[in-house]
Amino acid sequence: MRVPLKLMLDLGRYMRRKRRVGEKYFPLVLMLEPLHACNLACIGCGRIVEYKDTIRDQMPLEEALSAADEADAPIVSICGGEPLMYKHIVPLTKGLIERHRHVQICTNALLLERFIRQVEPSPYLCFNVHIDGMRDKMLGALGVDGMLLTPGYHYQVLTNDDIYLKREEMPAKFKRVRKLAEDYKIINTPIYLDYLVGERDLLCSPWTTVTRNPQGWKGPCYLITNGHYKTFSQMHEATDWEYYRTKQDIRCRDCKLHSGFEGTVALQFGENLKDSWRMVRHYMS
Ligand code: SF4
Repeated sequence: MRVPLKLMLDLGRYMRRKRRVGEKYFPLVLMLEPLHACNLACIGCGRIVEYKDTIRDQMPLEEALSAADEADAPIVSICGGEPLMYKHIVPLTKGLIERHRHVQICTNALLLERFIRQVEPSPYLCFNVHIDGMRDKMLGALGVDGMLLTPGYHYQVLTNDDIYLKREEMPAKFKRVRKLAEDYKIINTPIYLDYLVGERDLLCSPWTTVTRNPQGWKGPCYLITNGHYKTFSQMHEATDWEYYRTKQDIRCRDCKLHSGFEGTVALQFGENLKDSWRMVRHYMS
């Protein structure tokens, strides 16, 4: 399986619970950024530019745990900055696992050995190791469980447009990725890959992936910042989700970010039998 069965079942249960109580704009993933400092300085990383004045800030442990409680999302992606540099990374991870959150640590892996000596393996824990620009697919030989591809984050704060894929460049690139997904454990959904190839349209669901960092709740989405809000509720009240859902903002122009659009795919699961069967077959293979 490309994604753990338990994660998919928990996600399905959570979505049914939210819908039962009439919630429409609920998060599936919390992007928890307890710090923005990093031990690398990659071209194309918006965080180290946007937060350069507060790069030394670290979120208190209690604040990080209560952010997870506030959002209530079943998946917590601990990112940053480099999350393994966060001074409370071990108790934070353990605290989230105790809360039965599916924890994904997004890391460059430089400090991974030290971390895995301190935290037991758990069905609630996995690592997203970021690798940029590999021409050959070396990951199969490493025995990874899955590979997540993204057409590149076009951060609002970065002005160097040349390093990102343009909308018109995406179809050719992702036709090749969709072909590779037949033989490799690419975990992007087939529906999202159809969107990247240009064979179908999707609306965005930025509320499915919410971001909390030392400055507060960042809205409206992972890439663009209108402000930081003290509470999750304030961020919701301040954001016109329908405006961003329909990609009207100029800053959405070239964006096909997986966190916005894979959220749409997840929310639509079950609406179309053919699509749903494709998704099940993809994840079971
Ligand atoms: S399309 Fe969605 S994820 Fe992309 S910038 Fe707009 S609101 Fe954010």
